Amino acid sequence: MSDPQTVVTRFAPSPTGYLHLGHAYSALVAARLAGDGKFILRIEDIDPGRCRPEFEEALYEDLAWLGLEWETPVRRQSDCMADYVDALNKLSLQGVTYPCFCTRKDIARENETAGQAPHGPDGAIYPGTCRTLPNSARQDRINAGDAFAFRIDMAEAHDKAGPLAWKSIDEEGHTKEIQANPEIFGDVVLARKDVPTSYHLACTLDDHLQGITLVSRGEDLTAATHVHRLLQALLDLESPTYHHHRLLTDDTGKRYAKRDKSLTLRSLRADGKIAEDVRDSLCR
Ligand code: GLU
Repeated sequence: MSDPQTVVTRFAPSPTGYLHLGHAYSALVAARLAGDGKFILRIEDIDPGRCRPEFEEALYEDLAWLGLEWETPVRRQSDCMADYVDALNKLSLQGVTYPCFCTRKDIARENETAGQAPHGPDGAIYPGTCRTLPNSARQDRINAGDAFAFRIDMAEAHDKAGPLAWKSIDEEGHTKEIQANPEIFGDVVLARKDVPTSYHLACTLDDHLQGITLVSRGEDLTAATHVHRLLQALLDLESPTYHHHRLLTDDTGKRYAKRDKSLTLRSLRADGKIAEDVRDSLCR
């Protein structure tokens, strides 16, 4: 158990490409916010199709070059699937999950038929096709070997949890309570067909298991916090404070992305840039 006064922050990259300046900024912000506390690095590699060991190796090297130090051992999500299955089972026992057999095509077709599919932060909201499948039909499909994901029954889950809020802190250190509205996402996937978890479930559980007191991440993930707060309530986990930092943009105002190869930390290093200058330019 960590000291209740200790600030614990984390940087949680997915090794799907080389780290760019946007990642460097995110990692530096989290490390700075840890102050004298702990800065944790977590590898979010649940997606076997997109994550690669060479990117994981490279990110250790790049972060060390940047001058960062983190707690060890590093938690790698692909090694922790049993924890996520356990959490999913806890949710299923509360009756707030259901198996979903739909393919992307099924969902697109269903949404098209419905006319205007409502959109959430992750795109079109799942139309709920499998939510109302009778148990016998579910069992038949499972017995037939049809692949399925697990979705949250958002209305049921939110109802069970009641009104929720999370604590957010801005750059100046001002805090405020933000009301959680997870229903904007609809019935999100908690466990994928190919992996027994999802970003939302693994991230929420790990932030708890790793004793994170202050989740620092980009503002593109602010919306995800609505779902994370709900999962915390259902799983009876404490809710950390959240800091969603601004996203860095290039000279043309475009967000840095993994596809912008010229701005990876590797290429800057190869061009002879000094880590201290990169750090200074990001933390101005
Ligand atoms: N793994 C996520 C990413 O690389 C970050 C998740 C988080 O910080 O909550 O975008």
